[in-house]
Amino acid sequence: MPSYSGNIFMVVAPSGAGKSSLVNALLARDPSITLSISCTTRTPRPGEEADKHYRFVSQEQFAQLRDNNALLEWAEVHGNFYGTPRDRIDEALAQGRDVMLEIDWQGARQVRTHFPQAIGIFILPPSIEALEARLTKRGQDAPNVIARRLLAAGSEMSHASECQYVIINQEFSTALEQLGQIVAATRLRYIPQAERNAELFSQLGISKTVA
Ligand code: 5GP
Repeated sequence: MPSYSGNIFMVVAPSGAGKSSLVNALLARDPSITLSISCTTRTPRPGEEADKHYRFVSQEQFAQLRDNNALLEWAEVHGNFYGTPRDRIDEALAQGRDVMLEIDWQGARQVRTHFPQAIGIFILPPSIEALEARLTKRGQDAPNVIARRLLAAGSEMSHASECQYVIINQEFSTALEQLGQIVAATRLRYIPQAERNAELFSQLGISKTVA
C-alpha cells in the first residue's frame, strides 16, 4: 500500500450538460482513474448496463445500504435515490488511485465533509437553449420528465459556485482537454507531489508540508 492517498474529483452538472460523456472520454484516456459506480433506485435507461453505469437497486436495498453506512453520500434527485458506495472509494484512495464521482450538489457537499480536499468541477452548458436541446435530443425520457429536469437544472446550476472549477461544455474536445488539465494540475499540487515523491523530497531536503 502506498503511503499517499489518491485525489477525489467530483464532477457536478445538470442533466444534459454532457457530464457522463466527458467523464467516460477522460477515463478512456486515463484508465488510472477509478470511476465511482453509484447505486440508484431509478430504472435503467435503454443501453444502460447494470454495474457499469449504475448499480440498480430496489428502495429496500438502498435503504439497507444507507442504514449500514455503506454509502459515502446519498441524495434524492428527480424522485429517485442515488448514493456512492464507500468501499470502492476507500479501496482506490488507499491504493493511491484517483477517483472520480459523478454526483449532484447535495452529494458533493456531503463528500466535502469527509474529504475537504475533494476537488469540485462543475460542467455548464453553453446556453439554456443548448441544455434544452440536449435534454430533448436524448429522447430517452418522457416530455414531463424533460420539463422537470429543466427546472431541476436551474436549481443544480445555482450551486455551481460551490465547486473550485467550472468547465463550459461548448465544444466537447475543448471541455475534455480542460477536464484533463484540472486532473493534471491537481496531481501537481504541492502536498500530493510531496507525498508521492517522499524519498526525493527528503534527499533534496525539501519540506513535505506547505509553507
Ligand atoms: P441520471 O439519472 O440522469 O443518471 O442522474 C441524475 C442526477 O443524479 C445527476 O445530477 C447525477 O449527477 C446525480 N447522481 C448520480 N449518481 C449519484 C450519486 O451517487 N450521488 C448523488 N448525490 N447524486 C448522483
